[in-house]
Amino acid sequence: MEPHPVTGALFDSPVPPGTGWPGDPADATTPVAHDEDEVASLAAGARGIPELDARVSVCRACPRLVAWREAVATSGRRAAFADQPYWGRPGPSFGDPEAAVLVVGLAPAANGTNRTGRMFTGDRSGDWLYAALHRAGHASQPTSEASGDGLVLTGVRIVAAVRCAPPANRPTTDERRTCGHWLDRDLELATPHLRSMLALGSIGWDAALAAARRLGWEVPRPKPRFGHGAEAQLSAPDGRGIRLVGSYHVSQQNTFTGKLTQAMLDEVIARL
Ligand code: SF4
Repeated sequence: MEPHPVTGALFDSPVPPGTGWPGDPADATTPVAHDEDEVASLAAGARGIPELDARVSVCRACPRLVAWREAVATSGRRAAFADQPYWGRPGPSFGDPEAAVLVVGLAPAANGTNRTGRMFTGDRSGDWLYAALHRAGHASQPTSEASGDGLVLTGVRIVAAVRCAPPANRPTTDERRTCGHWLDRDLELATPHLRSMLALGSIGWDAALAAARRLGWEVPRPKPRFGHGAEAQLSAPDGRGIRLVGSYHVSQQNTFTGKLTQAMLDEVIARL
């Protein structure tokens, strides 16, 4: 057992549900999905965001991703984090349960969310995203290093196309389809107060459009093309317009190379 970086409490890797990890939404009674049908049924039956987050966080429906996330969490840790416990479970959504804005990411990073248990936490991508959300007044602090560090989001909730860290950041088509049921329910629960969505990268863009379509929203045809600053106007079942805005992903390959600058990210966030 190793100490949590903020609380100092001792944890196994992967972290068993309900053992006191900061922000762990699940406990030992949370039902576990083992295949796509079970994901669909548990997602549809989640009565609210806390129950949905709990169910996501213990999901085992994609054998390849379960094996990868747990291998990284045990024998595959990055040397810099070798003395820390790894979450080793899916990353549940994070942020304001009544958010007017959803940020749709790709998938957890193997040594980021898969280590810390919170979306975009503990890696360079998160440094970029939360600093920008802080500048825009949506995040209580500009950094996000560990669950339990006190970060609070206002008006924004972060979801993802896929909730387990995929090898080479590439989930398969089947994995995206299976995990899409969780996203559908996240979007459905968010709809009453939703105003806009920010899709990070083309996979986030495609996932947002596909979820909206499955939920019966009006989505333009042909499918709007992803690009940084691209926009699409969607229509929720109650007739309200929901703006979808695209951004290059906050991954290091975009931020280190200057493909995505702080000014570019601030500009798309301001449009939300
Ligand atoms: Fe479950 Fe999604 Fe992880 Fe697959 S990727 S195991 S559906 S949480």
